[in-house]
Amino acid sequence: MTIRLLLCSVVTSIALSVPAQTTCQRTKHCSAQGQAKGGPQDLRSDSIDLLVTRVHLNLLDAPNDLIHAMCVLRLVPKVPGVTQLRLDLIDLTVGSVLDESNQPLGFSHANGVLRVDLAQPAGPADTMDITVFYDGEPAVDPSNFGGFYLENTYIYNLGVAFDAQSHSYGRAWFPCFDNFVERCAFSFHVTTRGGRKVWCNGAELGVVSLGGDTTLTHWSIDEPIPSYLASVAVANYAVVHQEFPSIGGTNIPVDLVALPGDTTQMKNSFLHLQDAFNRFETCFGAYSWNRIGYCLASRGAMEHPTNITYPDFIADGTLQYEATMAHELAHQWFGDLVTCDRAEEMYINEGFAEYLSYLFLEGVYGPDRYRSTVRANHYEMLRRCHWEDGGAVFRPR
Ligand SMILES: [Zn+2]
Repeated sequence: MTIRLLLCSVVTSIALSVPAQTTCQRTKHCSAQGQAKGGPQDLRSDSIDLLVTRVHLNLLDAPNDLIHAMCVLRLVPKVPGVTQLRLDLIDLTVGSVLDESNQPLGFSHANGVLRVDLAQPAGPADTMDITVFYDGEPAVDPSNFGGFYLENTYIYNLGVAFDAQSHSYGRAWFPCFDNFVERCAFSFHVTTRGGRKVWCNGAELGVVSLGGDTTLTHWSIDEPIPSYLASVAVANYAVVHQEFPSIGGTNIPVDLVALPGDTTQMKNSFLHLQDAFNRFETCFGAYSWNRIGYCLASRGAMEHPTNITYPDFIADGTLQYEATMAHELAHQWFGDLVTCDRAEEMYINEGFAEYLSYLFLEGVYGPDRYRSTVRANHYEMLRRCHWEDGGAVFRPR
C-alpha cells in the first residue's frame, strides 16, 4: 500500500465515522493533497538545540480575547559563532526580549518570524535563557482546526492547523522552532480565575492561590516533545480518574476531563479505553508516558501527549466514535513517541494510528469487524480518494 493510499484511508474512515473535521487525521490529509507541502526543510535544529520551554500564560484577559505571556527558552548552540536566534511566533506582539542577566536584546518581529540578536557570538559551551514577553489575540486557523481558542466555556489550543504552513502550530501561543524535529521539555505556568482548572502535558506540580478566585497552576513534562504537541486546556473541569495496570509493571493514571455535567457521558463513551490500552501495549510495548489524559473541548481531536484534546460532541455517551478515541491513544505510540520529520511523511503518524484503531476494533469485536472496517475503507478510498485529493495525480518514478 502506498503512502497516498494510507493517507486517503485515514480520511475516508473519518468521513464514515465522525463529523467532518473533528479529528487530527484530516489535518494531515491536507499535506497529502499537495496544497500544503512541508516546504524547505527547517534546518535550525542543526545549529541550535532548544532544551526547555517555559510558558507563562496569563488568561485573566481572555474575555477580551487577549493573552499576556512570557516564555523562557533554555537553549544551547550546537556550533560556534551563533549570533542570532530565529523563532516562530505569529499574530502576538512582542514587547521585549531579555537575556539571562535581564539585559534587553535587540529583536525584530515581522511575518511571524522573531529574530533575536544575541549579545555576543555563542557556541556549544553557552547554554542560555532567552525570555520573550508578548501579548495579544492568538491566532486560530481559518479551517476551524488549529490555534489557540479563547471561548467562554473552554480555553485551549490545538497544536496542528489544517490550512497553515507549516501545520505545526505552536507558534500560535509561544515562540518556538515550529517544526517536527525540535523536541524539548516544557513547563506551563497558567493564571486563570473563576474556579477554572488547568490541564497540560505531563504532571501537575501545584496550584497557588493569587487571591480571590485567581489561581496559578504549574505543569511540567520532562520528556522532550515538539512544539505541536504542547497543550493547555482550561475550563470549569471535573475529572473521572481511573488506573490501568501496565505491562511495564506500574499502574498508569487515567484522567477523563470534562465539564461536570458531561463526565458520565464521557465515561460511557470511553468504556473500551482500557481494551485499547491493553491491545496497544501487547502489540507495541509498554505505555511510555506518565499518564493518559483526555480533555473535552469544543473541537479536536488532537493527540497532545498525556493531554489529548477531544471534541465534547463525540463523547456523547455512545460508542459510535470510539475508534477515534482509540486512534488518539494510538498516537501516544505513533506520532508522539516517533514523529515524522516532515509533513510529507505524515503516514508515520496517521497511517499507524489509524491502523491501531482497527486493531482496537478487532480486539473488542473480533476479526470480522476488522475486515469489514478495512474493506469499507478500501471501497470508500477507491470511490472518493480522487475527489478528496482534487484529482488524480500521477508522478513519474
Ligand atoms: Zn491522528
